[in-house]
Amino acid sequence: MVDTHVHLSMKDFDEDREEIVNHFDEDGIEFVVEVGYNMESSKRAVEFALSHSQIYSAIGVHPHDVKTLHGDWISMLRMLSKNKKVVAIGEIGLDYYRDLSPRAIQKESFEKQLELAENLNLPVIFHIRDAYLDAREIIKKHDVRGVVHSFNGTLEDAKDFLSMGFYIGVGGIATYKKSDTLRQIISEIPIDRLLIETDSPYLFPRMPKRHVPQENPISRNVRGHRNEPKYVRFVAELLSVLFAMPFEEIEKITTQNARDLFDV
Ligand SMILES: [Zn+2]
Repeated sequence: MVDTHVHLSMKDFDEDREEIVNHFDEDGIEFVVEVGYNMESSKRAVEFALSHSQIYSAIGVHPHDVKTLHGDWISMLRMLSKNKKVVAIGEIGLDYYRDLSPRAIQKESFEKQLELAENLNLPVIFHIRDAYLDAREIIKKHDVRGVVHSFNGTLEDAKDFLSMGFYIGVGGIATYKKSDTLRQIISEIPIDRLLIETDSPYLFPRMPKRHVPQENPISRNVRGHRNEPKYVRFVAELLSVLFAMPFEEIEKITTQNARDLFDV
């Protein structure tokens, strides 16, 4: 499997980061995409990828963080992108749910980063929350490909993004008890347009009952629990149920989808 969205450079993993990466083969992980969300984390993502064969990196500034930008940050991103293990620009987008940066600044920085992706011919990783319409208006003006990470919109949103050629990212949210509508939407998306992800350390998935460890029972929906790339398996299992396909087939297809998008 490919976990297409992780933040292993975060301090949450300071104790066991290397151990987690060393277990990738055992856990069925071919590679992960370490995603930046500001200038600092983008640099860390690149360094992390350069020193680990199964890590690739995405660089970009999250809508929450764009208000802190200063100087010629776009040139700095462009320079960073020259590293051969940078496979995408992200995560970038609009977040009107938390509105941690003024919307005008969110839009302006989003557009600048889309232009960068277009110029570099790199795919994009979108973070869009409660802003699918505005995001679409901006994206339409650019010739880019990419993935809507942790998709949580309507069927119409999904169809629009699919028609523009984008992949849809499925993660922990789709496993939650209350996500029946989202699961219904996902089941209507062609399987060759889906990517799986964890967003580690966030969005710990609700695990199927049989996976709850007996000796150390963690609740099936402790959202605060630290997520890890190996739990991307539970997202793949969900797809296996939704699409009535063998787990191995889901692994194969979503891995190929990730390889196609990120050209790995
Ligand atoms: Zn993320």
